[in-house]
Parts: sequence; structure tokens; C-alpha cells
Amino acid sequence: MLEDNNNSSSITADVQAIDADHHMHPFTNTGALNKKGARVITKGEGVYLWDSEGNKILDGMAGLWCVNMGYGREELIEAANTQMKELAYYNTFFQTTHAPAAQLAKEIASVTPGDLNHIFFANSGSEAIDTIIRMVRQYWCIQGKPYKSILISRENSYHGSTVGGTSLGGMSGMHKQGAPLVPNIERIRQPYWYGEAGDMTEEEFGVACAKALEDKILEVGPDNVAAFVGEPIQGAGGVIVPPANYWSEIQKICDKYDILLAADEVICGFGRTGSWFGSETLGIKPDIMSMAKGLSSGYLPIAAVAIGDRIANAFIEHDDDFNHGFTYSGHPVAAAVAIANIQLMKKENIIEQVGTDTGPYLQQKLRETLGDHPLVGHIEGVGLVAGIALVKDKNTKELFGDDIDIGMICRDHCFDNGLIMRAVGSRMVMSPPLVISRAEIDELCEKARLCFDLTLKSVS
Ligand code: PMP
Repeated sequence: MLEDNNNSSSITADVQAIDADHHMHPFTNTGALNKKGARVITKGEGVYLWDSEGNKILDGMAGLWCVNMGYGREELIEAANTQMKELAYYNTFFQTTHAPAAQLAKEIASVTPGDLNHIFFANSGSEAIDTIIRMVRQYWCIQGKPYKSILISRENSYHGSTVGGTSLGGMSGMHKQGAPLVPNIERIRQPYWYGEAGDMTEEEFGVACAKALEDKILEVGPDNVAAFVGEPIQGAGGVIVPPANYWSEIQKICDKYDILLAADEVICGFGRTGSWFGSETLGIKPDIMSMAKGLSSGYLPIAAVAIGDRIANAFIEHDDDFNHGFTYSGHPVAAAVAIANIQLMKKENIIEQVGTDTGPYLQQKLRETLGDHPLVGHIEGVGLVAGIALVKDKNTKELFGDDIDIGMICRDHCFDNGLIMRAVGSRMVMSPPLVISRAEIDELCEKARLCFDLTLKSVS
């Protein structure tokens, strides 16, 4: 236990020491962090965090793309408290259910597009993705086509860090660790127009990237392909917004070869792009969809897979168990919080606000404030998610060499100046809480400008 001590430096040092002794962090060089000491976050309210040194920080990442309704929401705290007292836990195996799980399934179905009315619960985005991998393969087995087992995804996509999620994702740094990967997964190029299109227009590039799917399908044989899986907008890959025609081309190809289309909505879901789901914003009609993060605004771990009639009915009509699930699938307290979160989103009209007001405002303000900055090669984003390419030379798009980690330099300046933005290689990304106001967007953009100036100074 920590001593009750009001001295902030002492609290920082105490937590850091315990952390270094016992805590191994995700996606972290633990040895290096232990020497430096982790930043200690103590409090959150609205779009702001405070650290143990008393610094107030604007959270431009909504935690890890998840605290959509902002920190400290009484409605969510109360929902957890009430449910915790009533029924803290029971499972949904044993032919059993409870009101929070059933009601949350209905609540999710009320906001999912199309016929995605059937909900399977998990606890994290990675588990939701593993569920999709197993479910689409089993779907084709039920259809008498067990050979249709290949999943196709994209380079630089992120689908989680379980063995399934790592294998499906396109992060080469992850593939090198903990191999071998799950077999029967293929990848195609990502639709990163600014970085990879050469002289092609956005439209030409959109067609070319979708054509890569068709080429891959023909290479491995359409009869062997179960599904194509993609994030509507790649998030952890640096916020890559595909060309406007990309998804409709992908959709056509999936339809042509009878291949299921899975949308990984773990980041885009629950309002990030100004619609309930990124699929609506980007014009995708998925057969199956993963969601997590914003489902509970990150207050408790919960995830779900929304399944369309085609797949769901196959399982429902097939007289057999689906041997998959988790102890905490549909956890009552997490479900109660997610219900309260969706209801709060509806009550506050947050989706519409992001779609018609704060989303377009952030996009415009970012371009006004940062567009002419010498380090900024390109800004892309939709709603309240954006990615900014940092370059050495705006005209030629030349990147900094490996000796200058421009993203990390910029990220550190942000932290030092009360702003959280994440670095993905040389791209800076942001996804603030959806409750962010116009005034807070102004503050975010001004702070970002200052930090980009400081970054430029650091490398000049
Ligand atoms: N899919 C996508 C698109 C994600 O962005 C993430 C997490 N960033 C995941 C899956 C994995 O989610 P989790 O970390 O909750 O397992």
C-alpha cells in the first residue's frame, strides 16, 4: 500500500517504483520505461486528465480511442454501482441470461446498420476479432464448404494482439514476435493514398487497392476465401482514410466472389466518424462487425460482434453448439454501463453533434492551424479522428531518416505542454472524446501548433 502522503513528487516516485518493480506494460520497452519512470495519471474529468504532479492535460486520444463520452460521467458510474449491488456477476453459458446482457444486445441492435441484429459478447476488441475469425470459418463449415477458410486483411491494419488478432492484423513488428501465426490469413496493400499512390489520383488509387483484393482472391482461389476484414478507417496504422470509392469497390468484389465482409469497428464504432458506425460514414454493408472501446466509453472492458441475418440464421438453424465464448461474455456490470453509455449518447445527440458540428469543425480547424506548418505533409480525417503526416520536405513528401524519430519527439513535446496526441511512426494521430466542445477543439489545435513548432526547433 502507498503511504497517505500529499506530496505529489513523493506519490509519483512511490507509484513509479512499485510499477517498475512489478508491472510490465503493453507495447512497451519495459527496461527503458523502468529507468525513466512511467507517467502517473490520477484523475479525469470531461476531456481532461491530471497527472500526479498536478499537470492538467487535454486528452486528444480519449484514452486509447475509447473514452467517447468523456471522463467522470455520473450516469455511467451510477449504472455500474447499481448493477454491482444487484448482480455483480453471472455467466451467459448454462442456458442462462440476465437482463443487462439481453437489454444491451437489443440496445446495440437499435444502432447497428442493416440487419446486424444478433450480438455475441466479448471483453476486448481482440476477443471480438478472434470471435469473427472463428465464426466466419465455422459459417462456411455449416454451409458444407470447410475449404473456404482464408481471411484476407490489409498491410498496416490493426486487429488486436491475441494470436488471432496479431495474425489477422498487418503489423510486421508484431508478426516477428510470438510466431508462428494463425494459418490461412492473406494480406493485401493498404489504401494509403498520400503515402503510397505515386502519381495516381485518389479515384485511380481506390480502384487499384480494391483490385488488389480481386487479384488475391483469384490467386488463392475464390472457393478458399471466407472473408475480407478491414477497419473502415485504419486507426492504429496512423488514421488512414481510404479514397472515397474504395469501399464500394471492395464491396462489389466481395459480392462477386461470395466472400463475407467484416468491418472492424473497434475504433470507428460509437460515433467516432460522425455516424454510429464507420461503415455508415464510409458506405460499407458488412455481414459482421466487431466493436469495443466506445461501446462503454472505456469505463469497463466490454466488446461485441454484431452479426447479420445471413450468418446468424445459419448458426441458429444449425442444430449444434458454437464452441466459443468467454467467462465474462455479457458481464452484467459492463453491460449495464454500456447500456447507460448508449442511452447517454442518444440523449445528448452526440452522434449528430460530431457529424454536423464538432467533427467538421475539428477537420477545418486542424487544416487552418496546421496545414501550412513546414512539418505537415498532409492531414486526413473524418469526424473526430485525424492523422497528420510529418515530413522533412512538404513538396517532395520526403520523410525524416531513421536517426530522427520525429513522431516521438513531437509526442513528447505534446505531453510536456498539456496535450496527448499519439505518434504512429511519423504520423501524429488524434481522437478526442466526442464530448469535446468547439472551445476545447480550439485549445487542442493551438497546443498542437505550439508542439509542432517546438518539434521543428528540436530537429533544426
Ligand atoms: N481492432 C481495432 C481496429 C483496434 O483499433 C483495436 C485496438 N486498438 C483492436 C481491434 C483490439 O482491441 P483491444 O485492444 O481491446 O483488444
